[in-house]
This record gives sequence, C-alpha cells and structure tokens, in this order.
Amino acid sequence: AKTEGGGRVVFFETTMGDAVKERFKLEGELRTAIAEGQLKLYLQPQVDSDGIQVGAESLVRWQHPERGLIMPGVFIPLAEATDLIVALDRWMLGSVCRILAELDGEGRSIRLSVNISPRHFERSDFVGEIKRQLMLSGADPTHLVLEVTEGLMIGNLEDVVAKMTILSTMGIHFSMDDFGTGYSSLAYLKRLPIHEIKIDKSFIQDAPTDPNDAALVETILAVAQHLSLQVVAEGVETQAQSDFLKARGRVIYQGYLYGKPEPAESWLQRLRDQ
Ligand code: C2E
Ligand code: CA
Ligand code: CA
Ligand code: CA
Repeated sequence: AKTEGGGRVVFFETTMGDAVKERFKLEGELRTAIAEGQLKLYLQPQVDSDGIQVGAESLVRWQHPERGLIMPGVFIPLAEATDLIVALDRWMLGSVCRILAELDGEGRSIRLSVNISPRHFERSDFVGEIKRQLMLSGADPTHLVLEVTEGLMIGNLEDVVAKMTILSTMGIHFSMDDFGTGYSSLAYLKRLPIHEIKIDKSFIQDAPTDPNDAALVETILAVAQHLSLQVVAEGVETQAQSDFLKARGRVIYQGYLYGKPEPAESWLQRLRDQ
C-alpha cells in the first residue's frame, strides 16, 4: 500500500494517527477530570401540566481548564467505550443522592433522574452500589429515577429484569430514555419493571406539523396509558409542541420552553427562592 498509495495513504495514516492521539489525550484528561472535580452537575426542570416542577434530570458537563465547558455529546461516547463511564456515572449518582438528601431534609418532594450507561448497569456490583450510595447519603429511594436505554437489552435480559426488580422493590423508579429511537421497544416494556418512558425529542420537534411524528407520539401515549406508564416529553421548545401534547394526554414536560439545564447550585437556589 505504501508504494501504490503514495502520498494519499501516508496522509490518511497521519490524520488517523492524530485522531487516535487526540482520543487518547482526551481519555487521559477525562480520567484526571473525574479525579480532580472538573465534572459539573447540571439539572433541567421537569414540569407537570400545571407548570409545577415535579423533578429534574441530571446532566453532566465538563469544565475543562483550557477547552472551556465541554458538552456530554463530545465525551460521553468516549467514556462509554471504556470503563471511564462507570466512574463518571458513579460520580453523578453520588452527587445527585447528596442533593436529594438535602431536599428531603427540607421537606421537598422532588424527584431527580440520573442517566445510567449499559456498561455500568451490567456490572455485577450495580445493585450493591446503588444501595451503598443511598445509604451513604440518606436519600429517599422513592425520589430517585434511573434513566436507562434500550442499549441495556443487548445484554442478558434476565439479569436486567432481576436487577430492576430488586431496585424497584426499594422504591426506585426506572425511566426508558430515548423511547422510539430503537427497536422492539414495545416488547421490552412488557417485560421490564419500567415506570416511565421518555419520548425522544426528535419526535416531539415536528409533532405539531408532521402527521407521521404526530401519529407516532399519539401511539406512544396510547401504549403508555394502557400499560399505566408515566410519560415525559423531551425537548419541548415551543408552545405549539406543548399544546399538542396537552391536548393528547397526561405528560411531564422537559425542554427549553420550561428551562434549560443549569448548574446544580443555581437550580437549587431558584428552587429555594420560589
Ligand atoms: P439525553 O439523556 O437524551 O438528555 C437530553 C438531552 O437533550 C440533553 O443534552 C439536554 O440538554 C437536551 N435538551 C433538553 N431540552 C432540550 C430542548 O428543548 N431542545 C433541545 N434541542 N435539546 C434539549 P445534553 O445535556 O447535551 O446530553 C446529551 C446526552 O449525553 C444525554 O442525552 C445522555 O445520553 C448523555 N448524558 C448526559 N449526562 C450524562 C450522565 O451523567 N451519564 C450518562 N451516562 N450519560 C449522560
Ligand atoms: Ca436522559
Ligand atoms: Ca433522552
Ligand atoms: Ca440519550
């Protein structure tokens, strides 16, 4: 290939090498970031149809010393390709449990959700870890929501059901994230102790104008109602999207129309000022 490909191959190899180097560099930096407290917890409100905030989703940001604020889309896939995601999820879980315990102490009944990566959930010590985090913090398990994705179902389904069952018995709720974007979603809903589904923002976006998306959202709402599942609509940005949903079912709203993700400290401040 060297002789035939000439400069093009060399060029290709060089850029490949740079991408790999950049990746390794970011991976090393992420390891440091977790250890040195560069990760930041953001919270985004979830409101009911009366506009009351009933919960919030925890979302991670990376406050990089040189690169500035990095969004999870950039580093979560990298973390998920390694065990770094476990350390990251653990840090989020611990931080959220501490906030929950604080709010519980103030007599506030608000739920906080945490995103759980399949790689983390699949570990044999996952259930034990959740128990430990709850015990350490004193948080009320009934205020903790774990957001999982269909990515989980690639693993051993019996193992998934067993872990979810133990944790739901403790009062923890499970939410099926990005619902509708994968496949076989309906079959899994029946088998798993899920309390909630989150309709992916890609369906919400065009629901008021695109008949296909509208039909999809209506179908998801009907299924949820039949199975007595709570529904969270993700990425609600406009009044038209909100009105569309309001006319069709009981939904919890999450999106820029109701509030962007913001640093946990300011989210807490606003909650206490209300
Ligand atoms: P996700 O779990 O589907 O989270 C929802 C994403 O939609 C968030 O992006 C949120 O900021 C964004 N969003 C919320 N409302 C709106 C809206 O009205 N319009 C639009 N266009 N977007 C909206 P974010 O924070 O960039 O997170 C991206 C993804 O990274 C998340 O998608 C989740 O899969 C992953 N992620 C974030 N934090 C964590 C974490 O702590 N652990 C794990 N495992 N994954 C995380
Ligand atoms: Ca989520
Ligand atoms: Ca989602
Ligand atoms: Ca997602």
